Amino acid sequence: MDATRWLMTAPGEPLVAEHFAAVAGPGEVLVEVAGCGVCHTDLGFYYDAVRTNHALPLCLGHEISGRVIAGAVGAEDWVGRAVLVPAVIPCGECDVCRRGKPSICPHQLMPGNDIHGGFATHVVVPARGLCGLDEARLAAVGLDLAGVCVVADAVTTPYQAVVQAGVGAGDLVVVNGVGGVGGYCAQIARAQGATVVAIDLNDEKLAALPPESAALRINARGLGPRELKSAIQSFAKAQGLREKSEWMIFECSGSRAGQESAFALLNRGATLAVVGFTTQKVEIRLSNLMALHARALGNWGCPPALYPAALDLVLTGRVQVAAFIEKRPLAEINAVFDAVHRGAIARRVVLVPSPAQAIAPSQENET
Ligand SMILES: [Zn+2]
Ligand SMILES: [Zn+2]
Repeated sequence: MDATRWLMTAPGEPLVAEHFAAVAGPGEVLVEVAGCGVCHTDLGFYYDAVRTNHALPLCLGHEISGRVIAGAVGAEDWVGRAVLVPAVIPCGECDVCRRGKPSICPHQLMPGNDIHGGFATHVVVPARGLCGLDEARLAAVGLDLAGVCVVADAVTTPYQAVVQAGVGAGDLVVVNGVGGVGGYCAQIARAQGATVVAIDLNDEKLAALPPESAALRINARGLGPRELKSAIQSFAKAQGLREKSEWMIFECSGSRAGQESAFALLNRGATLAVVGFTTQKVEIRLSNLMALHARALGNWGCPPALYPAALDLVLTGRVQVAAFIEKRPLAEINAVFDAVHRGAIARRVVLVPSPAQAIAPSQENET
């Protein structure tokens, strides 16, 4: 299979197209990429020189959807099927995997980090963990195979955070930073029965949230920690929700200021979930966790076993995706990275290989 992928050779250097022979080895499948989302993690590798586990050159991209066009022995059943490729693929066999903790599997593979990723016409990935897709159901919610790729990280990662925190009916959930991942986090928490307070510094991002997802939207620009906390307390009181305990705070901004302000919202029995990432350090009084009997949680990606449930929220319309993505040709990857880095594109970009570069399964069989 003659395929093309875009390689990062060094941080900040233009990504270069490379032809390669795409062949599925033992336990692997060959996926014809339909779409691959551009994540801030990719930009971290490219602009901030965050090290990839695989040595450079490497093809980035870990939000992949596509169609399996070849499978090694044991993976033949996947051939022809539309799939999501999990952003983090655990081995499934080691001690921690067998004890039900796949997110910390030391042998896990992340496309675009441990192995070549999805900014390509084709990608070879382990067959384990693939999530099958029903394209008719996707179409019913305004998505196609390319567009649904963002579920592989931008939706499943906050889904895992919400599940891990144990969000349910009657909970007051605060989502700090509602662009991208945070916007999905708010929708997922709402779908789990919580009342959601959305916080951002950008009015457009607050306004873009689906109407029913957030009951209160606060632009925190110019608000101190006490003012922010008291605004949420007043709202909680008016709504008959818990005013002074057990808030569930999801930090999705991935910024120092955002993390400090999320920590300042902790109350008795509160949960802080760190979903966003920054290399910056924060100054907090960690003992507040002890004094408040609060907890802080993190999650790395999402176990493949939870993908079908996260996908179901999208397929039933409880989490809207189509309005928050923008498709661009894969060949424009360098311009797209630059535009996303400059903040010139608000929606999540899905890079789509051109039809000329893609080969349909029927053609594949003939050659
Ligand atoms: Zn990502
Ligand atoms: Zn493992």
